[in-house]
Amino acid sequence: MIFRPLKYEKYAQKAVDKLQESQPEFRTKFDTDNYDNWFYNQSSETLRLYNNDKEIYFKYIPVGTFSLNTNSWMWAWANEDSVEPRKFRTLKIKEFGEKKNYENLTKSHFCGDKYTGWELTAIVFDIIGGIGTYRVISEHLEKYFLLTEQITKEEAEKIESELIECSVHGKIRKAFICQHLNTKQKTGFEEAFETYRGMELGEEDDFQAWCSECEKERIKTDGWNEESMEFAKIKLVCERCYFEIKEINV
Ligand SMILES: [Zn+2]
Ligand SMILES: [Zn+2]
Repeated sequence: MIFRPLKYEKYAQKAVDKLQESQPEFRTKFDTDNYDNWFYNQSSETLRLYNNDKEIYFKYIPVGTFSLNTNSWMWAWANEDSVEPRKFRTLKIKEFGEKKNYENLTKSHFCGDKYTGWELTAIVFDIIGGIGTYRVISEHLEKYFLLTEQITKEEAEKIESELIECSVHGKIRKAFICQHLNTKQKTGFEEAFETYRGMELGEEDDFQAWCSECEKERIKTDGWNEESMEFAKIKLVCERCYFEIKEINV
């Protein structure tokens, strides 16, 4: 007998069945059908469902979006407009797809139908795991979430309080740069560690960058000290401003 790996359709159906089995329990437990409003915050990856008299918060991983205009799917990892740090978790599905040769899991965009979003969300639920899934629709765009945990209002507020309000980009994660870095001229761009857009940061980590002149001072003083810090006058910017500056410097 020759063993053949499950074809994509079969695998996808299994994942959909699995989600359909557990999703009702999730919906009952959190009563998710009885909220009229939703709000999600990309930077903190929190989804809030609410009514006048009650609300509930979840942490989420973005799965992807389905455009009802173009009938096409886009994986979260491929969405350059998204600032959600954990969108890169969905690369795990891409890796799996590459191993199995499942095109829908490896291509960033492709055409689909009204089942596509749920099918791919079911696969993400199967591979990454979570407490449930959710979808919101605004205008022509369906957005799919993998919900990883319920959080309290206080926890959601704490995550939000660590964000900065940028006049250009809105409420978003913060970053630190020296006073010389700007979006108009190349100044060099030295970082505490190699970064990329939407990168997930550890508790202790921050985006931090400084210019070539600051780097010279830093080396002169054998690392940051009062003197080199005074030269750098580190200031706060938003994550997107940070990467805009980084891009003109590379
Ligand atoms: Zn500097
Ligand atoms: Zn900004």
